[in-house]
Amino acid sequence: MISIDKAMEIIKGQKIDWPTEKVELIDALGRIMVKEITSPLDSPPFNKAAMDGYAVDSNELCEKYKILEVIGAGDTPLEIVKKGMCSKIMTGAMMPEGADKIIRVEFADEIDGYAVPHTIEPVGNVISRAENLKAGDRVLSPGRLEAKDIGIIASMGFPEVEVSKKPVIGVLTTGSELKNPGEKLEPGQIYNSNGLQLSAQITSSGCIPIYYGIIVDDRKALSAAISKAFSECDIVLLSGGVSKGDYDYVPEVLEENGMSTLFHRVAIKPGRPLLFGRKDNIFVFGLPGNPVSTFVTFEVFVQTLIYHLAGLVYNPTIYQGKLAERVTRRDTERTEFHPVIIRGEDVQPIKYHGSSHLNAMADANGMITIPNGIAEFKEGETVSVRSI
Ligand code: AMP
Ligand code: MG
Repeated sequence: MISIDKAMEIIKGQKIDWPTEKVELIDALGRIMVKEITSPLDSPPFNKAAMDGYAVDSNELCEKYKILEVIGAGDTPLEIVKKGMCSKIMTGAMMPEGADKIIRVEFADEIDGYAVPHTIEPVGNVISRAENLKAGDRVLSPGRLEAKDIGIIASMGFPEVEVSKKPVIGVLTTGSELKNPGEKLEPGQIYNSNGLQLSAQITSSGCIPIYYGIIVDDRKALSAAISKAFSECDIVLLSGGVSKGDYDYVPEVLEENGMSTLFHRVAIKPGRPLLFGRKDNIFVFGLPGNPVSTFVTFEVFVQTLIYHLAGLVYNPTIYQGKLAERVTRRDTERTEFHPVIIRGEDVQPIKYHGSSHLNAMADANGMITIPNGIAEFKEGETVSVRSI
């Protein structure tokens, strides 16, 4: 059994030349951007009106101002504003030469072609050129693109963005006890939740799932499915059959199909039986069958590989909070991920019976990590929560 850190080191140490591609922004949500974005322009690119009103020279304040022209957003101002004059201006429009302040429309009356202010604010209501950003400034770091990031890239004038090619990830769920949702359960059978859960995790990670369905615990059937997945995928995920039971054929059959094992068994709870291997440029994870283990090991290890292919380090979102209840455990050999609910500053541990207790995850929005060697977190203690 190796530590989580060692397992991570092995994943991040894999050498691979992974392609990138340019995609249009409309298709870029959830994709991993591989290069930093710097601004090609000043933002705003001109001194810009932040309010509707009258543009004046703040050094030449008067009782009334002759209105020279009306400047709408997108217009080019034609007149120069001098003492006793103003231009009526709309939010977003370019400031005219000679003016550096806007008297808001609600703070002035318009009488016979003149603006007559009744209130003078201390603020200018102008966004100066390059106030938000200068050409050459860093705007966005590499990482998975969210909706706000798409807006930021569009605001730079870029129609497309360079992203990591989507890995094609195969899902093989092993187990003779499995039935698919919608089918009738016979005695001893359970529903296959991992297949759909993993496919969903893959899709929400910006990758392409290929779901190979249920593979019974039979060497031949398993070997045929693995060989097909190896011919179609960049990454292959298997669930179940990776422990020490009589019918846990996954590790052997993977090796028979040319995969070299890079690690097997990690000091993580849940998820100890985890296997990682490689065949040429195809990466393989044998994920434990228990559904919470499958979920956690995907989030911790498979995500790390997906980011690594893009040349990045996966940094999940971490919150800090105070533990609402004490958490204890007897076996401290492994680092444990325990589901919690984050409510404001409070972190409430969820009653959780172990790695088969999938419905315990229903209310969870985070996981705390109890490092190996630690038996207790006290009530009120500050803990780090990984968002899920
Ligand atoms: P295994 O790793 O094959 O020994 O499976 C460990 C436990 O997880 C067993 O109780 C299995 O029945 C269960 N399990 C395995 N595969 C799945 C799956 N696809 N969906 C739900 N539970 C599963
Ligand atoms: Mg099994």
